[in-house]
Amino acid sequence: MPKTISEKKSEIKTNGEIHPASHASKWNYAPSPESTDHIHLEKQYGLFINNQFVKPHSNKYFDTINPATEEKIADIAEADETDVDNAVKSAKNAYEKYWKKLSSKERGKYIYRIARMIQERSRELAVIESMDGGKPIRESRDIDVPLAANHFFYYAGWADKLEYAFPNRKPEPIGVAGQIIPWNFPLLMAAWKIAPALACGNTVVLKPAETTSLTALKLAEIIRDCDLPPGVVNIITGAGKTGAVLVQHPLVNKIAFTGSTEVGKIIQKAIAGTNKKLTLELGGKSANIIFDDAPINEAVEGIINGIFFNQGHVCCAGSRLFVQESVYDEVIRKLKHRMKSLIVGNPLDKNTDIGAINSKSQLEKIHYYLDIGVKEGATIYQSTSILPTKGYFCAPTLFLETSQSHRIVQEEIFGPVLTIQTFRTVEEVIEKANNTPYGLAAGVWTDKGSKIFNLTSKMRAGVVWANTYNKFDPTSPFGGYKESGFGREGGLHGLLPYVNLR
Ligand code: NAP
Ligand code: MG
Repeated sequence: MPKTISEKKSEIKTNGEIHPASHASKWNYAPSPESTDHIHLEKQYGLFINNQFVKPHSNKYFDTINPATEEKIADIAEADETDVDNAVKSAKNAYEKYWKKLSSKERGKYIYRIARMIQERSRELAVIESMDGGKPIRESRDIDVPLAANHFFYYAGWADKLEYAFPNRKPEPIGVAGQIIPWNFPLLMAAWKIAPALACGNTVVLKPAETTSLTALKLAEIIRDCDLPPGVVNIITGAGKTGAVLVQHPLVNKIAFTGSTEVGKIIQKAIAGTNKKLTLELGGKSANIIFDDAPINEAVEGIINGIFFNQGHVCCAGSRLFVQESVYDEVIRKLKHRMKSLIVGNPLDKNTDIGAINSKSQLEKIHYYLDIGVKEGATIYQSTSILPTKGYFCAPTLFLETSQSHRIVQEEIFGPVLTIQTFRTVEEVIEKANNTPYGLAAGVWTDKGSKIFNLTSKMRAGVVWANTYNKFDPTSPFGGYKESGFGREGGLHGLLPYVNLR
């Protein structure tokens, strides 16, 4: 009989021995859960079309669950072809009749209003994000929600200044944007997509991921309460099939997709030969590089932040660590010590460092790779954090003694799993770090500015962080090389995919 996840959890091999995956944590804090009294959730959510929540044509709904408790939170409508058609037609109608004719200054006012209302409802949004997706409240409260508001503020500012963004050119909106997002930053990804599209004068049909629709639906309520003209933003829920129908709709002029490389390729094929514009933000296997002259304590914190942040559910996670040989022992010793203090558990608890894995299938994928890593001969080390008995949780994991050819080094795991290799020279680490089909991000830790500049020019990665990791800002462009996609989101560059330039 196949083993259950919890049986597997407690049988992970550590240095050849069988170890229970959880031990008592070294640091004990009293529980400090965020209250849920102030949030408002419906039992059932319809599709947001033309500023109204409507029943799905098929009358089909699916459950959204809390991955930390495995309890159902609400019913979510499943959009079929008729619903997608209604949403796209509503967006097209709003575009032709209203939005493209509105003065850019007025457009900007609506976007500012959305930004302010996200701030006003930030506490509720943060709690719902953590309940539905499993991420620690500290992250949804301090990162996801403020950044989502900031994206709307930033692009609201551009709405009436587009002619300065593209000097001597005439930027024109494209029309209807079909936008598809993943489950790792549900509200933030919705903001990344919707804000620049609206600022440039386009209307939108957005499809959130099946497991994390709730904050997108809360954003729909905000958009309705902001009195946006009906049809400017439509939010339709459903599974991959709903996304596929949206991609193929003839009235959609632009597709913006964030998700896996596998689905990105399917979308690229599906729209080949049409005049739809496309941007793809796909997977990653990013390198975090520690030189011997780096501030080691800070670098260790950066490693933790780079891979264990958000359970490793970060497309640009620093999932491949490269440590210069002379400081290897020190880095590993300090890293293991720091891992002992990480608290895995209730996402709503303010002390939690690592929350729940987003879904059962994602946890199974992570366990699949843990087994592969062990079979490939890498040495596994897991933190002694206590894992809750219910819900989908994974202990932070290191794989030592890995090599370039290992699947755990080459393939995206999308969980709190770090592979570690050593290097001696700058040339060697550049070659190793670039030896991946992906090219989303990288980190470099060193005391020398010259090394930083050398690496940033030679790394095939969209973002290179120096002496920090996983820092985001709406003014800074983000996007990949190679199989991590094309097009940029954020900053001035993030406007370009949403305009035709004359
Ligand atoms: P995914 O399976 O590719 O799904 C992404 C979105 O596409 C979801 O809304 C999904 O719906 C939908 N979808 C699935 N099949 C589709 C199809 N044939 N046509 C159109 N839409 C379809 O990715 P995921 O597992 O949710 O997210 C994890 C991946 O996203 C990782 O690879 C990660 O690296 C990547 N990611 C990249 C970035 C970046 O900026 N580069 C940011 C975040 C995440 P359902 O969820 O309902 O299946
Ligand atoms: Mg959920």
